Amino acid sequence: MEIRWDPILAQWIIVAGKRGKRPLLPEGYCPFCPGSEEVPEKGWTVLSLPNKFPALRPDAPPPDIKYDRLYRCKPAKGVCEVIVYTPQHNASLADLSVENIKAVIDLWTSRFEELGSLDYVKYVFIFENKGRIIGVTLDHPHGQLYAFPFIPTLIRRELASSKQYWRRTGTCLFCTIIQKEQKDEVRVVCENEDFICFLPFFAHWPYGVHIYPKRHREALTDLTETEKVSFAAILKKVLLKFDNLFNMSFPYMMVLHQRPTDGKPYPYYHFHVEFYPPYREKNKIKYFASVETGSGTVTFDYTPEMKAKELRETPPV
Ligand SMILES: [Zn+2]
Ligand SMILES: [Zn+2]
Ligand SMILES: [Zn+2]
Repeated sequence: MEIRWDPILAQWIIVAGKRGKRPLLPEGYCPFCPGSEEVPEKGWTVLSLPNKFPALRPDAPPPDIKYDRLYRCKPAKGVCEVIVYTPQHNASLADLSVENIKAVIDLWTSRFEELGSLDYVKYVFIFENKGRIIGVTLDHPHGQLYAFPFIPTLIRRELASSKQYWRRTGTCLFCTIIQKEQKDEVRVVCENEDFICFLPFFAHWPYGVHIYPKRHREALTDLTETEKVSFAAILKKVLLKFDNLFNMSFPYMMVLHQRPTDGKPYPYYHFHVEFYPPYREKNKIKYFASVETGSGTVTFDYTPEMKAKELRETPPV
């Protein structure tokens, strides 16, 4: 295993040769249920566990392949963890109480802090893949995190544009977008005291909502206790809207975008959550096909205003 540099697109690729051979788990066995191998029987609400088939590891071996200045290569040094959201097997994040979701947020925060403080970790990426359609094989409610030895490409792009905006105007690009969305109203899905959820003017996915703290916060570690409760509450609300939209357990990819952990200042970056749900209508999948994948150009088959209205009008109960 190693990370390889793509000199054309200027980005790192994780090559984890042996991960493709992950064994299938025996039918009915869940490694995240209380009492399984590494999981205590009692006394926990949320847990972080090492990923058994990590793409990155703290003790990554030196690359086992020839490389040079053009074909650059580095050890795949990092950490991959699983975040178990609850001892309950048959549930999803949406079903959990606000207190339980707050416990998930607290765990995200402490893992971000601890892993981010490691000298080789430049970025802590927290995410959840939900649903078989996304390729998830374990139903037990859980998310994951990758502690990267580099700042991932999409984050670099967000950092570059927000830094440029900050230099030009002296204000945060994301704070400005939040104000615009609040003023325009038509793309707002829901909000509370401290957080807002909207489908941005420039949405990429039909139901690809973003959630932002209303005050300028670079990472989870900047949130107050009250803000964390508000964050849990809005997450639950959005997830219930998703589930009620087509009366199904709604699949999605959810990612947390926070500042890097390489020790440099990022005053122009604003923490947020992005969702990429694969559905575009009931029983219709949005494929990221040739145009999206090969040219990086998104075709949005509706308008973000239409899709935001659908979600706004879907009850969160
Ligand atoms: Zn389970
Ligand atoms: Zn901001
Ligand atoms: Zn983002």
